[in-house]
Amino acid sequence: MSAMTEPTSADSTVYKTLLESTKAIPWKIDWATMTFAYIGPQIEALLGWPQSSWLSANDWAERMHPEDRDSVVGFCVSQSQAGCDHEADYRALTRDGGYVWIRDVVHVLRNESGEVEALIGFMFDISERKQTEQQLLQLQQQLEELSYLDGLTGVANRRMFDSRLQVEWNNAQRTGQPLSLILLDIDFFKEYNDHYGHIQGDDCLKNVGQALSRAAVRPRDLMARYGGEEFVLLLPETDALAAAQVAERCRQLIEEQNILHARSQVAPLLTLSLGVGTLMPGPHDQPQTFIEQVDRLLYKAKHQGRNRAVLIADL
Ligand code: GH3
Ligand code: MG
Ligand code: MG
Repeated sequence: MSAMTEPTSADSTVYKTLLESTKAIPWKIDWATMTFAYIGPQIEALLGWPQSSWLSANDWAERMHPEDRDSVVGFCVSQSQAGCDHEADYRALTRDGGYVWIRDVVHVLRNESGEVEALIGFMFDISERKQTEQQLLQLQQQLEELSYLDGLTGVANRRMFDSRLQVEWNNAQRTGQPLSLILLDIDFFKEYNDHYGHIQGDDCLKNVGQALSRAAVRPRDLMARYGGEEFVLLLPETDALAAAQVAERCRQLIEEQNILHARSQVAPLLTLSLGVGTLMPGPHDQPQTFIEQVDRLLYKAKHQGRNRAVLIADL
């Protein structure tokens, strides 16, 4: 029993060996003098600074990335003063000028009257974990970007369109500027698939998507795949006349692609039908109603013989 309560010098050797052979780096700072009473020799292998160079808490603060220093030192000092155990992540400067991510886990030691006497802690090398975190963050950003892109054509997808429409709708309501929308639908695309096969159909959609992207010329214009063989152009601050010109440009862009369509009933080449709408949304207008209106224009274009644009003014 006594061996457990009263450590012998043999025990001390065991503890010391244990402490100095773990990867975590132990340390102790005397609170009154703010000097290191101890730091494990492993610190040299990790950061390059010799064990003997760790004298005061200042050495610790100065060997910290400037971006981390103020917040970490401030946090650790206030926690220690309050007598709270705590931990902090920061980048520690290496002797050769690099940085290593460290997690410092700190325990506050008090004397019998409850005053802070010393801080003891362990420094852990967490650079690998940080690297993984950074990679995960990057992957997440990529995923977020991808989730707004259509997988087949690489253009913006319906989700992107929905969120941008909402933003531009609110803008237009606030500024009183006209907002235009063009819905585009490939003519006789079912026949295209039937005749050339689904794979060539996919290629055709990519081609059309890329070509139509070139019709969105102003920074806030958006061209998106609306679904299937339908695309949509969102044109903020664009009046009916300008929208009609963009629609005509779309027709030309597709014509220039020269995509043979032997089974089309309107032309030897692949063509589009378009509905073109413009409005200045009032406080009670709904984007969905506007889309439905433009969709009726598109339907009309189909009905009137395809390969054409129908504008609101034509109604
Ligand atoms: P309309 O001129 O009236 O628009 O006739 P349509 O044949 O283009 O229209 P319909 O709606 O009858 O057919 C659309 C076709 O688009 C059917 C569908 O197989 C095809 N399609 C939709 N999405 C894709 C896709 O991702 N890849 C391919 N290859 N075809 C698709
Ligand atoms: Mg369709
Ligand atoms: Mg179609």
